[in-house]
Amino acid sequence: MVASTTELVTRSPEETEAVGERLGRALGPGDVVALTGDLGAGKTCFIRGLARGLDVRQPVSSPTFVLVNQYAGRLPVYHLDAYRTGSLTEVLDLGFDEYVSGDGVTMIEWADTLRPLIPADAVWVHIAGLGDEPRTISIARPDAPYLTGDVDSPRERG
Ligand code: ADP
Ligand code: MG
Repeated sequence: MVASTTELVTRSPEETEAVGERLGRALGPGDVVALTGDLGAGKTCFIRGLARGLDVRQPVSSPTFVLVNQYAGRLPVYHLDAYRTGSLTEVLDLGFDEYVSGDGVTMIEWADTLRPLIPADAVWVHIAGLGDEPRTISIARPDAPYLTGDVDSPRERG
């Protein structure tokens, strides 16, 4: 699959959230966003923006103990964090396939640990940088028509 990568630099959590929000607005039923980056890079921060772009009003935080948080936006939103995941089987037992094949949007922190389970058409977001450093956010998207525009001006899903 052809992928296009967009790279953006952010200098505050608010900017990272704003980038997430723009991507969130472009997402539709069944979309999967796979996030990678070190602890403290800003994955949860970016997901806060994604959720806002999907009209979620509930507070968003890492699902540390439950592994999956569910929010209600203009679509159902599933927020997974694979940080403490023991095995792929454990994730499948959570109902992973139902999340990613359903009509909701699935967002996965530490997605690299679940790589074999991530659908081929997922949007991959990598965040580099820690602490007070600026963050470089790379968004690699499959060549789907609704995501071919720049993140700054996402096209409507056609
Ligand atoms: P992760 O989920 O990747 O472990 P979090 O989103 O929980 O990371 O935390 C990111 C931390 O980095 C927050 O404390 C946030 O305030 C801080 N931070 C500083 N600059 C940025 C930035 N440009 N983008 C995102 N987070 C930033
Ligand atoms: Mg996190």
